[in-house]
Amino acid sequence: GYRSRAAYKITELDDRLKLFKPGARIIDLGLAPGGWTQVAIERGVKHIAGVDLLPVEPLPPAHILQMDFTDPECGPMLIELLGGPPDAVISDMAPNTVGHRRTDHLRIMGLIEIAADFAISVLKPGGAFVAKAFQGGETAPVMGLLKQHFTEVKNLKPKASRADSSEVYIAALGFKGR
Ligand code: SAM
Repeated sequence: GYRSRAAYKITELDDRLKLFKPGARIIDLGLAPGGWTQVAIERGVKHIAGVDLLPVEPLPPAHILQMDFTDPECGPMLIELLGGPPDAVISDMAPNTVGHRRTDHLRIMGLIEIAADFAISVLKPGGAFVAKAFQGGETAPVMGLLKQHFTEVKNLKPKASRADSSEVYIAALGFKGR
């Protein structure tokens, strides 16, 4: 079985986006407990590296780091573990909320922007970036940034995500390269 309900969301997203191919290199940000990586491996992905603040039970052949992705050393470590530039950076990271609307919102958007900047700095041309965001959030700046660097940028709402009413996924496809 899957370790998370999030596995069903990435299954639907990948049915649409076709990111998980046997030859693909994938980076999974905020992977704990591992549902997305499980689906990627099940779909034939052999090269995958992920990070989370929390410990994750091993999921061979995935390379797993336990650290804060916003630590500037994390990105280079993930690329090193992956053994080459990624075809896709996928992020389900969600910061712990503190209950203050404005603060929570800024933290969520900050994390998405850091993930987007990372993707733009490491992806292979043609690559993809997928990240969880929240409806009603000020996603315009990050969507604008992504539109400069990718040929297609859209919002997706998997059926499995309906219960989590405010969550929505940003998908940026066709990285234009640097
Ligand atoms: N996609 C996962 C799965 O399928 O099992 C579920 C991910 S869960 C919704 C969000 C995760 O983001 C949490 O495990 C949390 O620890 C992680 N996270 C939040 N901020 C992070 C950060 N700065 N660095 C690394 N992981 C982070």
